[in-house]
Amino acid sequence: MTSLHRECLERVDGKPTLLYDNHKRRRHGPRIAVSESTAQAIEARQKELDQLPAVPACEQWLFPSPGQRNRPRRSHLTTAQFCNRIFRDWVDELIPDLVDDRLDDNGEPLAYDRTQVVPYGFRHAYAQRHADAGTRPDVLRELMDHRSLDVTMGYYKVSLTRKQEAVKTVARLAVDRHGAPRGFEDALAYEVESVGVPYGGCTEPSNVTAGGGHCRIRFQCAGCDFYRPDPSYLPALEQQIADLRADKESALAMDAADWVVRNLDDQIRAYSKSADEMRRKLEDMPPEERAAVESASRELRKARSAAAFFPLQALHTRSPE
Ligand code: SF4
Repeated sequence: MTSLHRECLERVDGKPTLLYDNHKRRRHGPRIAVSESTAQAIEARQKELDQLPAVPACEQWLFPSPGQRNRPRRSHLTTAQFCNRIFRDWVDELIPDLVDDRLDDNGEPLAYDRTQVVPYGFRHAYAQRHADAGTRPDVLRELMDHRSLDVTMGYYKVSLTRKQEAVKTVARLAVDRHGAPRGFEDALAYEVESVGVPYGGCTEPSNVTAGGGHCRIRFQCAGCDFYRPDPSYLPALEQQIADLRADKESALAMDAADWVVRNLDDQIRAYSKSADEMRRKLEDMPPEERAAVESASRELRKARSAAAFFPLQALHTRSPE
């Protein structure tokens, strides 16, 4: 259980930091870095409270107790009050039709058990996204305020298993810059011999060693023999082709030199070759296999975007025990 004081937001070096009380661990005032949008929501809430009549017994809290009939209001909102009323109403309003992925006897989706939707899920999702993004276990332990590292490590096992399954599915479907099949022998080869770059995998050894940040030809992947896109990169490839087409229009409108337009044309052609070949292969697959590849591709994209979402440095500072 957690509570927030009204003055729970501080800016450290300009960055918003949240101070909270972890009642379960009996720790008051641990700090956690939060996004600017979260900070703005807290500031808006503080202003809202400034407009309301003060209730001395609960004025120090960001979320004061709503009170009960025949009982004066005191202290802060409790977990039960939040979970049973506010959160449930919010979920009902936000997701009126909540269905399971299982079907009933008539082939219709079963209604999802709404009691399974609980705020604790946000905590799990937060931890899982960090684990997927490669946040160091000791940093994640701090962020989650876990007593035992074993609990934190559970998130890495889930993350690893899911990712390995996804890699196994897409590794064999990689192509080269001509669209020719260049699948990896197995998931291990995919992980060890390639690294993700913006529009596909890269197998250039020095760039693989550098984690993808050291391309000697400035990420001109469409013309590089080390380029190995797989279906998980299709949306990124499609976006790149659309961007290159827009650039070409701008180049023509600006009367740019022929070689500029030619270069853009060459890149559009090369990226399209890889993308068309992967799309063709997907279309030839039986629906179940295609669905599995698409699901694995989504999983890998999620892992990559999580890695981009979370900065790798530790964001968390703790108050003394
Ligand atoms: S251009 Fe070649 S070496 Fe550079 S990132 Fe792309 S595939 Fe790797």
